[in-house]
Amino acid sequence: MLRNEFHLPAGPNGEPAVYFCGNSLGLQPKGVADQLDRELRLWKERGVEGWWGGDEGGWLSYHRRLQEDLSAIVGAEPAEVVACNALTVNLHLLMASFFRPTERRKKIIMESGAFPSDQHAVRAQLQFHGLDVADNLIEVAPRSGEATIRTEDIVTAIEEAGDELALVLWSGVQYYTGQYFDLEAITDAGRRVGARVGIDLAHAVGNVPLQLHAWQCDFAVWCNYKYLNGGPGAPGGLFVHERHAADEQLPRLAGWWGHRQSDRFDMKPEFKPEYGAAGWQVSTAPVLGLAPLMASLPLFARAGGMEAVRQQSELLTGELYRILDALPGIRILTPATAADRGAQISVYLPGHRPDLEKRLSERGLICDYRQDNLDGSGGGVLRLAPAPLYNTLAEVTRVGELLGSVIGTR
Ligand SMILES: *Cc1c(COP(=O)(O)O)cnc(C)c1O
Repeated sequence: MLRNEFHLPAGPNGEPAVYFCGNSLGLQPKGVADQLDRELRLWKERGVEGWWGGDEGGWLSYHRRLQEDLSAIVGAEPAEVVACNALTVNLHLLMASFFRPTERRKKIIMESGAFPSDQHAVRAQLQFHGLDVADNLIEVAPRSGEATIRTEDIVTAIEEAGDELALVLWSGVQYYTGQYFDLEAITDAGRRVGARVGIDLAHAVGNVPLQLHAWQCDFAVWCNYKYLNGGPGAPGGLFVHERHAADEQLPRLAGWWGHRQSDRFDMKPEFKPEYGAAGWQVSTAPVLGLAPLMASLPLFARAGGMEAVRQQSELLTGELYRILDALPGIRILTPATAADRGAQISVYLPGHRPDLEKRLSERGLICDYRQDNLDGSGGGVLRLAPAPLYNTLAEVTRVGELLGSVIGTR
């Protein structure tokens, strides 16, 4: 859609490589260097005055300049989102506020096989509260013989946990299988039993259209370096629903950057949160880390918004699915229905191929392969994610040919 706006890594023959790894690290928008250069110049020319000076009001309001674009991408009000910290840190900060176990209600429910960092964070939170992990963590798994989790099984598990459930923590798009969950149904179920609902959007943001405000989840977290192309280790994002925006009673692991801006520099010990998501910032905004987002986020509006991005994505991923489905001897883990998946297709390739990623990269395809012996043959899972902003249908066709030849000649 906006391929010309991105730097494309070179393949072995000097032509652009086929980059199907935007689910891991999105490519660099061409506008990033200029944006970084502006902040470097401001720092160079004004020093500390850069916080107040500059053309656009200085770095003090830097996070505000990102809220509009970010909120459109996740379906929220601007004040409900902020870019700060990193995904796992934000997850901890928001669980500190929204996972408040009581004697009766203290369980957390999440998908089995969640991203390790989320599993670490959830276990750490339970332990932090002195709770036994085995007794209080409910993990919902796919049915035997299935690769993805049925919505009805998630809802049933939430209902069964009932008033013992403190928190539903679910992912938007599952990082491994590419399954896009029914977040509205999951949020409804969680709220019906009186639990808080938090969503990990790492693989969903910039990938599928979201309606966080309308769905009424309590909070969400994401990273900005995957489909949002914010650069390696870019600060993360968080969402807190408007109904909590002015709640000063919510416990928080507070820091001065979350204190309201109007009197932040009076240096008083009492914490008065900034309205909305910005009240969960903790430390000084990492301006140089945020700067690339100034160039990368507006590209989504330029592409016509998330609905338009999704349309292009379904075209690319639908074609990729069709091609992969016709290859013999592989098993697709990602749902066959477009509505139940994002951009990524995950396929299990039987047979030991420790150097597959390298062999594909030598032929000009950058993607992700992990050994994962699902059937005793020593095989692994290949994850292919055509990113709608910069990948093309011609690339999808090329990947099909390439995989056909490489898989055939093990
Ligand atoms: C990528 C990813 C992360 C990464 O967390 P960081 O704190 O940004 O390093 C966490 N959770 C999920 C589900 C992810 O996909």
